[in-house]
Amino acid sequence: MQVSVLPAGDVEKNVLEALDADLRRAGVGVTTLPSQGVPGAAHNPERDQYRAPELLKMGRRAHGEHVLVVTEVDLYVDPLNFVFGQADVGGQAAVISLHRLSPDDSRLFRFRALKEALHELGHNVGLDHCPEATCVMHFSNELADTDRKGPNLCPDCVERVGGEPPWRVPA
Ligand SMILES: [Zn+2]
Ligand SMILES: [Zn+2]
Repeated sequence: MQVSVLPAGDVEKNVLEALDADLRRAGVGVTTLPSQGVPGAAHNPERDQYRAPELLKMGRRAHGEHVLVVTEVDLYVDPLNFVFGQADVGGQAAVISLHRLSPDDSRLFRFRALKEALHELGHNVGLDHCPEATCVMHFSNELADTDRKGPNLCPDCVERVGGEPPWRVPA
């Protein structure tokens, strides 16, 4: 699959480079677009958080087969307190937030970011959440869920997308 990465607001350059390298290693074609500001309409000053659907709209307006918006701001979607990301199921746009991925351990942070990116891209290729806890399409309610799952699709999810995985992260 082909993905255009669209940074929204300030995103550390080394984080974008790592994501680019990790996606390529998984067999995903990557183009990193010039960054854009986080839309003012996304900010909710009462919560000091940002509305994920507004960042998804940025992705829908950008060029690319799939557009992955990457941001460091904290995202939410009502009625959830926060989300790690959001995506159009069977569509073009996806967004991930790095805000809650705890960058203290850079290797762990990098792996979490990759898994969240692939999870949202999995929605783009039409997948819903998967009950298998080790499948990348399992819903992450907290970081422990993200850490439990792997970066790849389980056999059932591979079957659901027609038998050919859109990416494969080597062990
Ligand atoms: Zn999801
Ligand atoms: Zn699965």
